[in-house]
Amino acid sequence: MVAASSGGVGLIPKERLEVLFAELAELSGQRNAIDGRMVEIFAQIEGEQLWGMTGARSLPAVVAWKTGVSPGNAHTMAAVARRVGEFPRCVQGLKEGRLSLDQVGVIAARAGEGSDEHYAELASVATVTQLRTAVRLEPRPDPSPAPESKSESGSGPVEPELRGSVSKSGDGQYSWWRIKLPAVQAATFDAALGSHLEGLMAQWKREREAVGGGGGGEFAVPMPTMVEAFLALVQAGWDSEVARRPQGQHTTVVMHVDVKDRVGSLHLGPVLSRSERQLLGCDASCEVWFERDGEPIGAGRTTRGISRRLRRALEYRHPGCAFPGCGASRGLHAHHIVHWEDGGATELANLVLLCPFHHRLHHRGVITITGPADQLCITDSDGRVLTGASLARPPTQPPPDVPPCPGPTGERADWWWYQPYEPESPTAN
Ligand SMILES: [Zn+2]
Ligand SMILES: [Zn+2]
Repeated sequence: MVAASSGGVGLIPKERLEVLFAELAELSGQRNAIDGRMVEIFAQIEGEQLWGMTGARSLPAVVAWKTGVSPGNAHTMAAVARRVGEFPRCVQGLKEGRLSLDQVGVIAARAGEGSDEHYAELASVATVTQLRTAVRLEPRPDPSPAPESKSESGSGPVEPELRGSVSKSGDGQYSWWRIKLPAVQAATFDAALGSHLEGLMAQWKREREAVGGGGGGEFAVPMPTMVEAFLALVQAGWDSEVARRPQGQHTTVVMHVDVKDRVGSLHLGPVLSRSERQLLGCDASCEVWFERDGEPIGAGRTTRGISRRLRRALEYRHPGCAFPGCGASRGLHAHHIVHWEDGGATELANLVLLCPFHHRLHHRGVITITGPADQLCITDSDGRVLTGASLARPPTQPPPDVPPCPGPTGERADWWWYQPYEPESPTAN
């Protein structure tokens, strides 16, 4: 055991620093070992898909929520937890306190299959930054989808960057665009255009079959062309841009609600389930027409819509999704705690912001939300109260008994002699 830092009193500065470093080494070893155990626990939660029942949207979200760490650190832990089976030696190093979570995290994030032994050895001497370089030097079977690592550090050959261009000309009646794209972007464009054309074709065929197939002669709807596919692509991009801005109008869906029977249906569309009807009706993102016996009796209680002012007040009170540990802050819906069709008022005390995921989860009955808003209570399907607090509490067990971890040697890396990990080719045997 190393003396506690207070024991360094009376020593000269150099000796005092050594005492402090020795204590840091011991604590680092213990922390690594604890991270190793936590990784195993999260691997179990992931393996048995237990996080689904917490209402959280992903494993990293559970890690951040339950341990109170940042989203970045939670992603590192989740990345390792997902690959414990592939990297037994690296994880062993973590559990024995020799390797840090960040070291193993870099490996788990991008290293190739079968590289456990290679990196377990390298990690015993390499820093996190050096490991990052080593992983980047791995030959990738498909070099295309990693444009982000190009600017960082001068290592590796630099490919010339291909640039596209868009130019336009016209004669007053038509316009011509000349679009030049590098191969990868061109493939994306082709795939998107193809998928929209396919969708339009399928719809066109369905509609033809619905009217008895091929009828209509010269007045029949013509087969969709690439032009329609292109415009559908533009429209879809536009719609998603509108939906992305929380202040903007998300949709212009029109919903008809029969006030007597409480039946909702989309304008010219299908009848909605109760949860769909309430979900759509919750925010002002949908225009609601109240009807009795099929006759419109007014376009909704005007107060159902949430004014900008009220929206700002909501954001000011709690700027993110109200679900514990969610943290989403974009595209939030204003949910009525007591639903408006049950007489719930559109006022601060009855409103709470939720991300679309948790909003749907609530209206599907997976989580319940009861108010008023200042005493909000969110429970899971078993009635357990969910809180945003992490599980951290003072320890009752002694720290893990592992040797001190002085950290990697940090020796200057000589990348000239370094052999990147290369998977054995499948034809080798
Ligand atoms: Zn709602
Ligand atoms: Zn949420």
